[in-house]
Amino acid sequence: LRKIGILTSGGDAPGMNAAVAAIIKTGIAKGLEVYVVEDGYKGLVNGCIQKADIAFASEIQSRGGTAIGSARLPEFQELAVREKAVMNLKKFGIEALVVIGGDGSYMGAQRLTEMGINCIGLPGTIDNDIVSSDYTIGFDTALNTIVEAIDRIRDTMQSHNRCDVVEVMGNKCGDLALYAGLATGAEIISTSEDKLSEETIVSQVKKLSEASKRSVIVLVSEKLYPDVHSLAKKIEEASGYITRATVLGHIQRGGTPSAMDRYLATTMGIFAVEELLKGHGGLYVGQQGNDLVARDIQSTLNMARKDKSQVLADARLLNSQV
Ligand code: ATP
Repeated sequence: LRKIGILTSGGDAPGMNAAVAAIIKTGIAKGLEVYVVEDGYKGLVNGCIQKADIAFASEIQSRGGTAIGSARLPEFQELAVREKAVMNLKKFGIEALVVIGGDGSYMGAQRLTEMGINCIGLPGTIDNDIVSSDYTIGFDTALNTIVEAIDRIRDTMQSHNRCDVVEVMGNKCGDLALYAGLATGAEIISTSEDKLSEETIVSQVKKLSEASKRSVIVLVSEKLYPDVHSLAKKIEEASGYITRATVLGHIQRGGTPSAMDRYLATTMGIFAVEELLKGHGGLYVGQQGNDLVARDIQSTLNMARKDKSQVLADARLLNSQV
């Protein structure tokens, strides 16, 4: 193996740059030439490929977002489109690739491996929705951003005896809501795995109001309710709290990566290059306890999600007390 490539795909996540930097530095330290592909599979198909050096790696390693760009290219599911990508890689002499992204991106990596380009996937998403890894690159940073935002909202809700409905990201995974709910003492937590009906939320807030709770945070995963502002209105009417809704949105995706995300990204980046040097491909790196493991991409897509219902039950019990 002499030349490897890196791309980031799907939604960006803080820590992706630390992974890219670690792959560049490890590759160069092991005598490889390392190339970066701009804008994910789109850049691969269009031939936007550049040689990377240590100066570039050092410059980006602590920055948020992804410095090499990310994009979605649904057409990558078509063989003819992927053939163009493989042709471009061959033009540069790139024999293997590290793909940093979500599980959609791994399907692309799997297909490329089947076409002779060994690919290793790294889990880069704030959503923590990759079942084969305890944590994904970006989750810790986004979680800290959410916790800081909720703490700020709490200050003002507490001062004015109010309620706020806070909507957080997570795609179909409730971990951001669950972990942030536990960390901030949110009185009501509704996650993708255990959605509370609007009626339940309204009646629970009403109860807290009757018990003279000074402030209430209702923390909900995205995509659960048609409109959190109208939910806030219903809460206000039933409980008497002045109630607002805050959709944290893309604030959660950006920002300087936390130390833990940089650590995870860097160790995973080193691990990925080592796997490629062993001649492995079609694998996906995950964190399991204190270890990194490489699993077959196909098998990771069918793994069951960890059951965190007891943590949610505990958080709800603790936080709903007055
Ligand atoms: P996020 O969780 O942030 O959305 P993701 O990696 O799951 O990240 P997707 O949009 O699902 O995001 O996939 C990213 C890209 O991976 C797609 O735009 C496409 O280029 C490629 N891809 C997805 N599924 C396949 C597939 N079945 N075959 C080939 N390529 C695929």
